[in-house]
Amino acid sequence: MHEVFELATAHAKECVDLTERVSEAVKRSGVRSGLCHVMVLHSTAAVVVNELADPNIGLDLLRALDRAVPERDGWLHDRIDDNAHAHIKAAVLGPSELLPVRGGALVLGTWQRILLVELDGPRSRRVSVSVLEG
Ligand code: ZN
Repeated sequence: MHEVFELATAHAKECVDLTERVSEAVKRSGVRSGLCHVMVLHSTAAVVVNELADPNIGLDLLRALDRAVPERDGWLHDRIDDNAHAHIKAAVLGPSELLPVRGGALVLGTWQRILLVELDGPRSRRVSVSVLEG
């Protein structure tokens, strides 16, 4: 089963919890045991698995990324698109995650959530969810 959903981010940088939407896709797939691949279809956003029960974790992640990759550092891509930092951060985090499915549900640790990391918003973002039986 494969589907794509769209969401609108609200800020230039933020972490958005995708877990419920992905879980619903897993349920719709009818797959009881297999793998779920979640991928953002853009090059200035990322998908990670982490905690958001304390929203400060998301804010800290964004701050750490800002420290590692400053917005202004003479990036060559800024000459044409002015968002090189977002491309670099997205490449470091990666666009996708692969999660186990057991008993018809995602297998996640108690505090783990699937997060879209917006790095150049606000924008409309498309997320691909593939659920494979096996
Ligand atoms: Zn760009």
